[in-house]
Amino acid sequence: MLNSLRNIVQEVNAARDLTTALAIIVSRVKTAMLTEVCSVYLRGPKGDYVLMATDGLNPDAVGKVRLSADEGLVGRVVTREEPINLEQAETHPSYQYFPETGEERYSSFLGVPIIHHRKVLGVLVVQQVERRRFDEGDEAFLVTMSAQLAGVIAHAEATGVMLPVGEKAAQAKFLGVSGAPGIALGEALVIAPPADLRSVPFKPCADIEAELAFFQKCLAAVRDDIKSLGEQLKSRLNREEQALFDAYLAMLNDASLGSEVSERIRQGASAPYAWSEVILEHERTFNSMNDAYLRERATDLRDLGRRVLAYLQESNQKSQVYPDKTVLVGEELTASMLGEIPKDKLAGLVSVQGSSNSHVAILARAMDIPTVMAAVDLPFTQMDGRPIIVDGYKGVVYSDPGLELRKHYKAIYQEEQELVKGLEALKDLPCETLDHYRLPLWVNTGLMADVVRSLERGAEGVGLYRTEVPFLLRDRFPSEEEQRNIYHEQLAAFSPHTVTMRTLDIGGDKSLPYFPIEEANPFLGWRGIRVTLDHPEIFLAQIRAMMKASEGLDNLRILLPMITGVPELEAAKVLIYRAFNELLEEGFDVKLPPIGVMIEVPSAVYQARDLAARVDFLSVGSNDLTQYLLAVDRNNARVADIYQAFHPAVLRALYNVVMDGHSEGVSVGICGELAGDPGAAILLMAMGYDVLSMNATNLPKVKSVIRNLTLDQAKALLEEVMVMSDADQIQQRVDRALRDHGATRLIRPLTTD
Ligand code: PEP
Ligand code: MG
Repeated sequence: MLNSLRNIVQEVNAARDLTTALAIIVSRVKTAMLTEVCSVYLRGPKGDYVLMATDGLNPDAVGKVRLSADEGLVGRVVTREEPINLEQAETHPSYQYFPETGEERYSSFLGVPIIHHRKVLGVLVVQQVERRRFDEGDEAFLVTMSAQLAGVIAHAEATGVMLPVGEKAAQAKFLGVSGAPGIALGEALVIAPPADLRSVPFKPCADIEAELAFFQKCLAAVRDDIKSLGEQLKSRLNREEQALFDAYLAMLNDASLGSEVSERIRQGASAPYAWSEVILEHERTFNSMNDAYLRERATDLRDLGRRVLAYLQESNQKSQVYPDKTVLVGEELTASMLGEIPKDKLAGLVSVQGSSNSHVAILARAMDIPTVMAAVDLPFTQMDGRPIIVDGYKGVVYSDPGLELRKHYKAIYQEEQELVKGLEALKDLPCETLDHYRLPLWVNTGLMADVVRSLERGAEGVGLYRTEVPFLLRDRFPSEEEQRNIYHEQLAAFSPHTVTMRTLDIGGDKSLPYFPIEEANPFLGWRGIRVTLDHPEIFLAQIRAMMKASEGLDNLRILLPMITGVPELEAAKVLIYRAFNELLEEGFDVKLPPIGVMIEVPSAVYQARDLAARVDFLSVGSNDLTQYLLAVDRNNARVADIYQAFHPAVLRALYNVVMDGHSEGVSVGICGELAGDPGAAILLMAMGYDVLSMNATNLPKVKSVIRNLTLDQAKALLEEVMVMSDADQIQQRVDRALRDHGATRLIRPLTTD
């Protein structure tokens, strides 16, 4: 059973379109369950359920038989959201007869709902002439099948609207989540990690003969590599192992994989795309084999596939031209990919994976690049070169937009530019309420580009400088001297304002290419301070570089990430004092900077007083704190809607931290993304946060809100929401407050539906 399930799902996954996927489902399920009919009904645009595929009923009935949710046994499965298993279907009161299906001959009926994200997408039905009570095992098989297929069907439905490049493609809409606000109208450029077979973008090939010759050249290069590898290892391998190299060489023969790829190139695909398609198809075939030895061969094939792809991509890379308004599209965009595109050409970002709390999204907000994350249904490999609109407010992407839509979005784009201009006037005005309560607004930085924008927008300090960003953009650890230069630039640019430098916070989703950390649960693993305490040489070099960089400026604060208890803090402080004393001995005129901890894990919330008693300031990292309090992975698109910044538990934790910090007499700030949300900023000010640190883009928006209300009004709002028990209710109340204070435009600009 398990093998059948796995094989069917794999085959369906590989189907090119929904019709093929459904045909595979009905025929394979029918065989696996030894039954006479298998059919799939799917919800149509009008909410009715349409027979979309069948193996056993009259094929002419496909597309014609339609039932509403209260009609027939299929309708009953839909409304009950449960399987119906009948030995004698025709006696059931809901039974309905459709002559076009030839259905009256089938007595037994087992129907299970196909449910995706709580919605019934359709019904999977098996039937049989003679009376058969489908047993519990049958029912469980069909339920499992349907649960597995639901995602595939939803995905195939969503992506089915795409047409091949070149044909007049229809406008298509893909949902994701907002990564960074703003609108981008541009051209998609698909970016993929090198030699990743699954993410090679489709590109047409203009000169077929040249592409074929290029492909042969790359095959020959890999053949040579394998031969010399075989030679080098000859003395260490036995005969059987040596045979593996011969098998590799045979696979690369023109008569085998080579000819299949050449055929696809002749049909107009680029060599990398044709190669990846052929390899993936063969890999699936190997994977679906019952023989364990043959399944293992899939690994060899993948390895070979990557080797050839690396050659095919290497030459392509050099000739990369960036369109003027490039929208970078990828399966999983990473922070370092942003560095590959000239900044003046980068208009927007779309990532199939990740969420608004992924670090690439945080960087995009800092750089003011409209971004959509978690566009899970986007057929990203087919997007290269297509016109695209990124609606970073709503988290929606449109491919091949029509004239009307383009006009609509151009108008919003212009409106947005005017709003930004309007807010520019606030630059030199203080951030204070109508009753003159001052609230310092600081910025989060990482790149040098942030500095200029932050100063232009009137930032009064840096609440979080993410030192991992310069580490991410290199191919090795920067030396102490290199770090000193980078940090000095930041400190000098903001002097005399304070710059809070966080020590290296890698792990989680921030893996350095040259220091990979591979773990099953990276967010619960070796991350932040845990890594640097285990590597004092890295930590000490960084602290020394920071202190030296601040010499003569003395505007540095040091912030420690991912602290879960007092011993970690004490250990880090010992190293900081050691670095300080070393520098004094070496003759540097350094001062001991204020030291603070990030409150970003639940244990630190409960120990906020103990921690505060040992440091100069606290800074709440609400991004991680929310993920750890709510047990919601900040990068997982599937649970993005329950990552709720206004969750009552999060608000209570935030309130407790500020009170506990103040009771120990230390300053308490917040540097998570929440601080840059205009509505949340009102609540945080009312709680008593001393500093809000945010991305430069949001700073003027927050300032304009704060300048439009009194502290008492903010406190009254806080009092109201602190007794609410539901995040949505709190969000709505806060949105209403924004409207009341004339900031409707800052809630979420109206885009399209
Ligand atoms: C946070 O967790 O809120 C934070 C500011 O740190 P980062 O987003 O870099 O993990
Ligand atoms: Mg964090």
